[in-house]
Amino acid sequence: ICFQECNLRGVVKECLDDYVVLLGERKITLETSVPSGSWTVLGDSNQLKQVCINLLVNAQEAMPQGGRLQVGLRAGGDGGRPCAVVSITDSGGGIPEELQSKIFTPFFTTKRHGTGLGLAIVNRIVQNHGGSLKVFNTDDGAEFQVILPLAPFDD
Ligand code: ADP
Ligand code: MG
Repeated sequence: ICFQECNLRGVVKECLDDYVVLLGERKITLETSVPSGSWTVLGDSNQLKQVCINLLVNAQEAMPQGGRLQVGLRAGGDGGRPCAVVSITDSGGGIPEELQSKIFTPFFTTKRHGTGLGLAIVNRIVQNHGGSLKVFNTDDGAEFQVILPLAPFDD
């Protein structure tokens, strides 16, 4: 496996660059809070891009009439280890409580043409990177948090 030092901020920004066109078409406003700084994680940047893209696709699909998409990057701790937290928050109505335990299962989908693989892949990649994936409902939508350990010796 090719785990290397990669800059999580760069990964997030590249995904947004690739994706911002689609959002405009959907009347989705984008708010980002992706501060500069040292966000080095050990990982495979292509896989981490896949994580962000899958979450952005789901957020966009949750807001067919448009809405608000927030993307954040901040420091956080998971059991004391210094971590980076990437959050992707939409205003698409959220996920019913009873479905929250099922959405990471391969092939679980509520969409007519869904594959049900997006979140299963996200969860697998994040776990392979020693991190965790969390989901919450907000006032009007869903928030996914990707929590990844920062590389050691990173300032
Ligand atoms: P798919 O997108 O093909 O359905 P995913 O694994 O990406 O498969 O997502 C599984 C299910 O989780 C979706 O069908 C949907 O019910 C739910 N889901 C995922 N992301 C969101 C979101 N941002 N808002 C509401 N529901 C979501
Ligand atoms: Mg999906």
